[in-house]
Amino acid sequence: MHYFVQRSELRDLYEKVAARERISEAEALRLFESKDLNALGAIADLARERKVGDRASYILNRYINYSNYCILSCQFCAFARKKRDADGFQLTVAQIVDKAREALSLGVTELHIVGGLHPSLPFSYYTGMLQALKALDARLQLKCFTAIEILHLGWLARKSTEETLLELKAAGLDSLTGGGAEIFRPAIRSAIAKGKESAEEYLDVHRTWHRLGGRSTCTMLYGHVESLADRVDHLRQLRALQDETHGFVGFVPLPYHAENNQIPVEHGPTGFDTLRTLAVSRIYLDNFSHITAYWVGLGMKLAQVGLSYGADDLHGTILEEHIFHMAGAQSPQLQTEAEMIKAIREAGRIPVQRNTFYEPLKYCESAVGTTQDENGAPSKLLEGNLATA
Ligand code: SF4
Repeated sequence: MHYFVQRSELRDLYEKVAARERISEAEALRLFESKDLNALGAIADLARERKVGDRASYILNRYINYSNYCILSCQFCAFARKKRDADGFQLTVAQIVDKAREALSLGVTELHIVGGLHPSLPFSYYTGMLQALKALDARLQLKCFTAIEILHLGWLARKSTEETLLELKAAGLDSLTGGGAEIFRPAIRSAIAKGKESAEEYLDVHRTWHRLGGRSTCTMLYGHVESLADRVDHLRQLRALQDETHGFVGFVPLPYHAENNQIPVEHGPTGFDTLRTLAVSRIYLDNFSHITAYWVGLGMKLAQVGLSYGADDLHGTILEEHIFHMAGAQSPQLQTEAEMIKAIREAGRIPVQRNTFYEPLKYCESAVGTTQDENGAPSKLLEGNLATA
């Protein structure tokens, strides 16, 4: 038994997890309410190690926001703009392809593409964008759209969710993003994201996508007006859908950022709260393989520590993040591959470059800074020259 739990109030839950028994919602709440962060981390680390061993992953990806125009005004959102706003934007497909071409030259394997709920772009814009990106390089994995974007595109085009997803899939969509889950409980949801799809609708989009053979990630926005019980309720619904479909490849808890929005909460979650949220997620979501410490929201230093509290993934290089930074995130807008490898290695894990589906692409057994491209030269990402991206 780990020495952190020998005299801990959480010792019985450590033994339960060690015996591979599933914990209940009441026990998840107990974990959340405990102040014994070391014991909680030890339990989460046991659960993580069993799932993924010594590996921790990252992905070379690029974010692209095709537009920030949105018909909704979620109270927590600092990203959305109306057509009358001077800083609203909308990219053409050609502009998106240019960004993708630049990303490909840097070794990026995934484009992560989301936007607001645009009032008028036709369905052909989205299918055309996917087709153009696949035509650029068929190996580029396209992780696009939140559940509410899927519903919105379907409403505008008068298509069912299934038709919408099938047509996007045929055009090149590889994975849905997990964004927009926020907190499922209705009272909290309407306090922070009034007008957004319900929990049932969010889950049903992912359920349909999984039934069609697709894979996706899921999220939880925490640290605002929700209670710890609300978080457990949120995780309960994700675990139940995962039992049903096994279609989620990973879970990404997202810390709330307090700036530039209408929610009367002055601070986002503390480091303690972030680490316990990662840990409880790992322990409770026993049917998920991967838990991400999202460096954009956490900062790389805390994300790195998260690798000892249940997380096994740091997310990606990103290159150009808008949503969290417009909400006040102080982290840089990109990470180099070298920085991610260093953070993982320092945490005692073997860095693994992954693809969209968390499948390994490259194991980084060599010393930091020696990863080479196919010509034997240090990779561009390792040279840290992404500042031009
Ligand atoms: S969170 Fe999404 S749906 Fe809500 S206002 Fe922002 S962009 Fe629109």
